[in-house]
Amino acid sequence: MKFLDLGLDEPLLRGELDAAYARVMDSGWVILGPEVEAFESEFAAYCGAQHCAGVGNGLDAMVLALRAAGVGAGDEVIVPSHTFAATWVAVASVGATIRPVEVDPSTYTLDPAAVAAAIGPRTRVILPVSLYGHPADMGRIMALADRHGLFVLEDAAQGHGSEFQARRAGSIAHATAFSFYPTKNLGAIGDAGAVVCNDAALDAKVRMLRNYGARTKYEHEVVGYNSRLDELQAAFLRVQLKRLDSSTEARRALARTYSASLAGAPVVTPSEASWARHVYHLYVVRSPRRDDLRSHLQSRQVETLIHYPTPCHLQPAFATLGYGPGSFPIAEQLAQDVLSLPLRPALGADAIDHVVEAVSRFV
Ligand SMILES: *Cc1c(COP(=O)(O)O)cnc(C)c1O
Repeated sequence: MKFLDLGLDEPLLRGELDAAYARVMDSGWVILGPEVEAFESEFAAYCGAQHCAGVGNGLDAMVLALRAAGVGAGDEVIVPSHTFAATWVAVASVGATIRPVEVDPSTYTLDPAAVAAAIGPRTRVILPVSLYGHPADMGRIMALADRHGLFVLEDAAQGHGSEFQARRAGSIAHATAFSFYPTKNLGAIGDAGAVVCNDAALDAKVRMLRNYGARTKYEHEVVGYNSRLDELQAAFLRVQLKRLDSSTEARRALARTYSASLAGAPVVTPSEASWARHVYHLYVVRSPRRDDLRSHLQSRQVETLIHYPTPCHLQPAFATLGYGPGSFPIAEQLAQDVLSLPLRPALGADAIDHVVEAVSRFV
């Protein structure tokens, strides 16, 4: 069983994508046009937010949001110890200081108590990540930010449609960055991303930054970027957005089946906090013998992946920060024992049964 399958050959979906492609080809408009505008308003509405600016990818969404918020050299940004490297790369890209703190060992998201302990005079931003599809404890994080006058940027690259107390990602933080990389819960057929917020001035800055720092053509107010969303990707995303709720429900149902069936198996299953709506971008279990479990599953034709095998603080790219083994024990433990089982909306109950059966036979 393959871990990934974008499902683009599904006939109904394929027909709608082909129609979207034809619409763009007929319009002759290919960059920042009517499809992008329509997608931006549809996705903002989906998130329950006022503004959405389409950009080139998820990393750029974070970089542009940080720049728009005026974050740069001398500012500290609090990030989770356990995340995909992009979260840390975004902070380094704007010249700010990465301040990692540990994650909660049950939700794998930023631990508010660890955040509170890390806030200092140079702290400007808290950057929670809805890792695997589970939101961070946004209530406590926003309360900390209010008390200390900090900006909150959520990395929701894995959290489209995730909710904290029935509020959707995009409507809670001061700005939320999304990726529409093809494998994400809402995916383009190439690279794409967006910044969602409720602040008109911030939205206008992101729009300026994505287009060479110009609000008006050839009038460059700041040194910006080229990070635009193109019409084809926006048209494809509009097709996929219509399916996001049903595909999220399918993910949640499969995750419930997994968790119920794996109750007696020798793995730790993911938890969902009482205040959370988990969107299961990934279904991640833990095992002290992860590598053996992985080869056992591979021998039964079950492909799995590891998200992520090396913590950011032990990556060569971040060696200059001066952390070493032992600096973030929770992140290091997770890197050793997490394993992502196949979960995508099109998987049938029989496929899940096959995986469960294979896991249960691991001794
Ligand atoms: C995918 C991802 C990103 C980056 O998105 P790109 O579109 O690939 O740049 C950032 N953060 C997390 C947590 C991700 O999973």
